[in-house]
Amino acid sequence: MPANIPAIFVSHGAPTLVMDNVPTRDFLMGLGKSLPRPRAILAVSAHWDTEAPRVTTDAAPHTMYDFYGFPDELYEMKYPAPGATALAARTLELLDAAGVPAGADAKRGYDHGAWVPLKLMYPEADIPVAQLSIQTRRHPAAHLAMGRALAPLRQEGVLVIASGNATHNLRDVFNHDMLAAPVPYAKAFADWLAGNVEAGETAPLLDYLSQGPNGARNHPSADHYLPLLVALGAGGGADGGKGRLLHDGYTYGVLSMAAYAWG
Ligand code: ZN
Repeated sequence: MPANIPAIFVSHGAPTLVMDNVPTRDFLMGLGKSLPRPRAILAVSAHWDTEAPRVTTDAAPHTMYDFYGFPDELYEMKYPAPGATALAARTLELLDAAGVPAGADAKRGYDHGAWVPLKLMYPEADIPVAQLSIQTRRHPAAHLAMGRALAPLRQEGVLVIASGNATHNLRDVFNHDMLAAPVPYAKAFADWLAGNVEAGETAPLLDYLSQGPNGARNHPSADHYLPLLVALGAGGGADGGKGRLLHDGYTYGVLSMAAYAWG
């Protein structure tokens, strides 16, 4: 019986994280080695937002360059990991059994929310990957439920990794240097988030816009927050469970780069 693999949430920051000399890059480079080696990876990225849940089924997904105006070097990088077709089928099966009908997407590749952290964690790109979408039109609780439905994957040698940002106000990014100290409004939310994750307090995490300090300012869109709830569900089982802060730090003063593990 393989070891249970924790479910992980990582903050991916700017696409240039893959080459920027910042502590979060070093953290991600070590993270892959610190976990039991998965036989497949299910990545839940902020950058795939659909009406209903979708799962990638391509056996050879392409690398997507779903960002604009960055250095040429970034558009030449590839993440050639094979698609995880068996995992995709299993994911669809588990979601269906939980009453969350999901569809297959045979054409989509890896968006940067998935490939940037994975390239740092598993640079050999030799572990198959499937992606699961988020749905910003659905309630945060629906994302927790998706995660809970996928919890059995952790006993099946699968790493469930969710990729978003603990705080994510992009409008303010351009006002700060990459290594600027955290601004108070972002730090207040990130600290609140860490406290609730570590206490296993799921209800406030679902109500983050009202209960989190400056919730709407830190997450003007839900897309970079919702992946966290999928990881929480996958890692915590029915009761949510207490998470562990794996990494803390900021880029551009407003992006908390916090990472968590559950299970
Ligand atoms: Zn992003």
